[in-house]
Amino acid sequence: MSDKALSSSSRAELRALKWFTLTPALGLILFALLIAGFLWYLNRVGLDQQRQTLYRDIEWAQQSIRLALREDQDAIVASAPDWALADQLEDTRARGREFLQRSPDVMYLARVTPDRKVLWMLPGRGVVSVTRNRTPGAQIEDSAGYNVFHEARASRSPAFSEPFLGEDNELTVELHVPILREGVFSGTVVAGYSLSRLLTEALSPEVRERYQIHLVDQGGNPLVSTSPRTIHETNLGYELPLDPPGHGIRLRAFAFDTRPSLVRSSLVVVVIGLSIASAVSLLLLWRHSRRRIAAEAERDRLFEFSQDLMCVFDEQGNFLRMNPAFDHFFGPDGSSRHLLDLVHPEDREEVRLALAQAAGPRTGAIESIAISFEARFAGTTQWRWLHWSARSDSSKRGLMWYAVAHDVTKRRNAETALAAETSFRQAMEDSMLTGMRAFDMEGRVTYVNPAFCEIVGYDASELLGAVPPYLYWNRQDPSADQQALATVLEGKAPASGFQGTVHRKDGSVRFVRMYVSPLVARDGTQTGWMTSMTDISEPKRIREELAAAHERFTTVLDELEAAVCVLPPATGPGTTPADHIAPLFTNRTFRHLFEHAADFSPLLKATEDSAPGWLPREVLLPRLGRWYEVRARRIRWVDGRPVRMVVATDVSRRHEAEEQHRRQDEKLQRTSRLVTMGEMASSLAHELNQPLTAIANYCMGLSARIRTRVAAGAELDADEMLQALGKTAAQAERAGMVIRRIREFVKRSEPERRHCEVEKIVADAIGLAEIDAQRLGVRIEIDLPPEPPTLNVDPILIEQVLLNLAKNGIDAMRNATAPVLRVSVRVLGGAIDFAVADVGPGLTPEARAKLFEPFFTTKAEGMGMGLNICRSIIESHQGRLWAETNEWGGCTFRFTLPLGTAGASTRVARAA
Ligand code: ADP
Repeated sequence: MSDKALSSSSRAELRALKWFTLTPALGLILFALLIAGFLWYLNRVGLDQQRQTLYRDIEWAQQSIRLALREDQDAIVASAPDWALADQLEDTRARGREFLQRSPDVMYLARVTPDRKVLWMLPGRGVVSVTRNRTPGAQIEDSAGYNVFHEARASRSPAFSEPFLGEDNELTVELHVPILREGVFSGTVVAGYSLSRLLTEALSPEVRERYQIHLVDQGGNPLVSTSPRTIHETNLGYELPLDPPGHGIRLRAFAFDTRPSLVRSSLVVVVIGLSIASAVSLLLLWRHSRRRIAAEAERDRLFEFSQDLMCVFDEQGNFLRMNPAFDHFFGPDGSSRHLLDLVHPEDREEVRLALAQAAGPRTGAIESIAISFEARFAGTTQWRWLHWSARSDSSKRGLMWYAVAHDVTKRRNAETALAAETSFRQAMEDSMLTGMRAFDMEGRVTYVNPAFCEIVGYDASELLGAVPPYLYWNRQDPSADQQALATVLEGKAPASGFQGTVHRKDGSVRFVRMYVSPLVARDGTQTGWMTSMTDISEPKRIREELAAAHERFTTVLDELEAAVCVLPPATGPGTTPADHIAPLFTNRTFRHLFEHAADFSPLLKATEDSAPGWLPREVLLPRLGRWYEVRARRIRWVDGRPVRMVVATDVSRRHEAEEQHRRQDEKLQRTSRLVTMGEMASSLAHELNQPLTAIANYCMGLSARIRTRVAAGAELDADEMLQALGKTAAQAERAGMVIRRIREFVKRSEPERRHCEVEKIVADAIGLAEIDAQRLGVRIEIDLPPEPPTLNVDPILIEQVLLNLAKNGIDAMRNATAPVLRVSVRVLGGAIDFAVADVGPGLTPEARAKLFEPFFTTKAEGMGMGLNICRSIIESHQGRLWAETNEWGGCTFRFTLPLGTAGASTRVARAA
């Protein structure tokens, strides 16, 4: 959620909160104002009532005092003429006393003469002493008395004096009533009023109880008071002028108690109490609602801002409410889907079960069930793992789920990776043949793997937690093991490892090799040591056996007559001269024979071009003058390199024997050829005789003709002569060819292979055979392929074979009616096939069995060596010779020769 959205939403919340909190506050204020107004109004009404009462009471008091004074004044005025009769003093006094009895507020009554002398004085009731100036005989000198006296005298009407301080500090006012005797002023009658008495006597006790009443002078200073108490001026008060006595004297009253009545005040108290109680409860309610609103706002914010997915869904899995994180996770249409639709198909059943299980066994009572599960959910882009915690609640609408989910994909992936890693490591540990053991710095074993248990023969439970001496130590003498452990714990174990023994549970002993490395914790502190242990008992045994085998092997090899060596592979043609190759292995014979590398270089040269197999090469070592058969083979050396093993066997003796044999063979072949020629001698003589006779005839004829022509003097016919000479030369040529063939056939020559034409071999052999054939009347038919191939053979030997076979055929057909010898040559696959077929009597079983044995012959002059030699010639050319019986009679002798074989060897090796 963006900051902007956040602030606007919080502003709206604050506004709501303000209204929620202000409304009760306003109500509270309004209520307080109302109550205050009401109380104020009550107070006002009360005060008004009090004031009215006060006014009434004080006015009443004022009237009372005035009435009392007026009454006294009137009484004195009425009585004054009587009292003026000074001679009837006693009588006057009696009347005066009477008056005093009636007016308790009068302190004294006195008669003052016109010259201000007190004539007599009567003290009032309860008055002990009167001011000295008013004692009889005293003259009134004080200003108040003086002034009033003169005022009364001047005005001739009663007058009140100013207040003055009398005896006993009594504030006093005097009423001077002038006495006129026949219109002449004759003094005054004075009534002294004590102001305090006036107040007490004139006012009713109720008024005095309720008010403090003062008499104040013109300046507002209190003169007398009904109560000595000081009263706050704010108290309800009222002031009225008091005339008489006048002189600015005023009556001032203060209400003692302005408090309302008990009933009213308790009503106020109740109202105030209730108001306070309701205000407090309102305040508490307000505070509570404020807290509630704040808490709800917090909760809403938590719901809105939570990064975790929150939602409410019903029993069927329909979403009812979800937070923005939920929408964000599932995309815009996520909330409109069913819960199970969002679950990965593989996890759907599990989620359904979790919800069903929790919702299933509800036993009437509404109980809230908490469940949690993890499943893959369809996020907006991919499947994500969510961990759900949900709590059910039963409402009017049915069962509801309140759920929160958070994305645990990372954790799940990490867990999966960890599990894979753990199982991989477990598999690795279990499959490992190397024993692993860890121990702490004190040597306490903390870990062993299965291979270790296997090596030591104890279970992991027996080994874990073990301390030295360990179970697999040598119990008889653990000193070596202790020593090794001490070395390890000191960190001095060699990096290259060390050997030791393990005493297994079954009593057997195994040899082991151990490597130690420190176990270092993340913080870099070393926590122990890890030892890897390899069982080397078997390798050790094998090594020992191998060593023994090697010794046997080298002994055998050393005793061999053949020279054996192993050479490193040639890095490339010509890169390493054979002289500089250092053999990897040599046996004694080799070392004895070839002291220097140069000595065996001819051997190596011979092996370089050899095929991978054991094809032998025979090499003559000139220094030793001996033949060696060298066999080389590519093998893998102990380190896996391809190397050459060379075995050189001295074959000089065999070589000599073979050479001898070969020479004998050659001699035999030649002898055989000579014999053949000998056999053919008469035929040959006849063959040669014919051309020689013809030559002689031609020469004699020619010389006779020349002589005849010369004698006749005729011209010699050159053409005729040249023709005769040509015929002569042809005859000589024919004889020469026969002689050349015989010479070539019998001449002693080293067997030599060369490229030669099949056609020529056949022509030469048949040319010789034809001499016998003609003599015996045998027809020879030759059948050659259209393009006869070239052969790499010794032509004389093949010719000898062909001639021998042809001669045998011709011999066999001596008595045949239509003797035909058929010589045919065919190319069959990779070989060339020669066949010599006759129509003679064929082979008897005996002849067939012994055909190729030496000296088997049925002929009187025969030697019986021909076929034997023929077969050895053919076989020496890697060919084959055999006889077949013809269907039409007679037999066919066949031999094959490989085409294009026999390489470039200079010598035809004898077949082994
Ligand atoms: P030789 O010709 O000196 O007897 P060979 O070794 O050439 O010696 O022949 C051995 C024998 O094989 C002959 O004596 C003959 O009996 C028999 N033989 C050879 N060729 C034929 C043939 N084409 N038909 C019948 N017999 C034959």
